Amino acid sequence: MIESNAEGEINKCVHCGFCLESCPTYVITRSEVHSPRGRIMEVKLNLKSDGIDTCMYCRRCEIACPSGVIYSRIITSARKPDVFKKIMLKTLEKPKLLYVATKGIMKGNGEFSLRIREFIKQVNLPLEINEKNANLYVIPGCIMSTYFRDTVKNVVSFLQKSGFRIKIINGCCGLAHYSEGEVKGGDISLNELVKDLREKEAICLSSNCTAHMRERGIKVMDLSEFLIKTGTKVNVGEPFVVHYPCHAHLDGLSIYLEDAIKDKENEMEMEDPSFECGAGGAFFLFNKEISDSVIEEKNRKVRASKAKVVISTNPSCSLALRKSGLRVVHLGDLLH
Ligand code: SF4
Ligand code: SF4
Repeated sequence: MIESNAEGEINKCVHCGFCLESCPTYVITRSEVHSPRGRIMEVKLNLKSDGIDTCMYCRRCEIACPSGVIYSRIITSARKPDVFKKIMLKTLEKPKLLYVATKGIMKGNGEFSLRIREFIKQVNLPLEINEKNANLYVIPGCIMSTYFRDTVKNVVSFLQKSGFRIKIINGCCGLAHYSEGEVKGGDISLNELVKDLREKEAICLSSNCTAHMRERGIKVMDLSEFLIKTGTKVNVGEPFVVHYPCHAHLDGLSIYLEDAIKDKENEMEMEDPSFECGAGGAFFLFNKEISDSVIEEKNRKVRASKAKVVISTNPSCSLALRKSGLRVVHLGDLLH
C-alpha cells in the first residue's frame, strides 16, 4: 500500500522527464528503470524492478523538478531495510559500536570486508568532550566521529582556542535510516541525538546531516555557516574545487561552503559541483557497480578542473572521493 504523503507526491508527477539528467544513476545507466520518473511509475503501479534499490537517495531530482515533487517521500515509502541493513542502522546510532564493528569487519576477507577496506582507511574511537557550562555543542555525525576523528579534533581545538566551551554529541541524525525507508527508526535516532540540545547553540560537521536535521526542525548550523557567522575564513593555499554534498545543496548550504573560503583565486571551475560523489550513504556497500561508475564520473569532473585538492564537508562523500585517489580536505582541517 502506498503511504498517503507519498501518494500526493506521486500524483504531482507529470512525467515530463526534466529530472532525468540530474539523476546520477540515470546518467550512468541511461535506463528509465534507474531514473526518478521510472521509479515513481514503479511505485505507482506497484511493479518490482531493481530501480527502487538503485536509487542513491541524493534528492537531486527534487531540485530539478518543476512540479515540486518531493521524491524522497515516495522512495522512503517504497523501501524497507532487510535484517542486515537494520543491524547496520542500529550500529550507526552508537559510534563506539560502529568503531568496534568496523574494526572487526576490516579483518575479514569476504566481499563486504574488501569493500569496506576500499573506502575506509582509518577507524578511531569517537572523541568525547564535555566541558563544564558548555556554550557550543558539536555534532560530528556518526561517520565523521569514527572515520575522521582528526578533523573533529582539529575543529574542537580551534573552537576552544576561540573561547568556546565544548560538548560533543556523538550519534546518528537518522539520514541513513531515511534513505533505507526506516523513517520511524531515523526519527528515534535523531531524538536521542538532540535530546540535550534544547536552546543551546549547535554546529554539525557533516553537511548532509546538518541538512537532514534542519529539515526535521532541529536548530543547528553547519560548520561553514558558523565560520561565516563568526567572521572566520579558511585558506586552501593551492588549486581547489568545492564538492557540494547533495542534501546540503538541496538545503542551500553550498553558498556557505563557498563563502567560508578566503583564497577564491585558487578555486578552479568544476562541472556540476553537486554531482553525486558515488557513496550515497551506505549505497556504495550494496550497489558496487553503479556506485563505482558514479565515483568514476565524479572523479572525471574533478580531474578535468585541474584542481589539486577537493573540499568536502560530508564524510561519506570524502570516503568516495578519496577512493579514486583524489586528495580531499574538510573545511575543519584548514582551521588553525
Ligand atoms: S519527478 Fe518532476 S521532473 Fe521528474 S518526471 Fe515527475 S514531474 Fe517531471
Ligand atoms: S534521489 Fe538521486 S538517485 Fe534517486 S531518483 Fe532522485 S536523483 Fe536519482
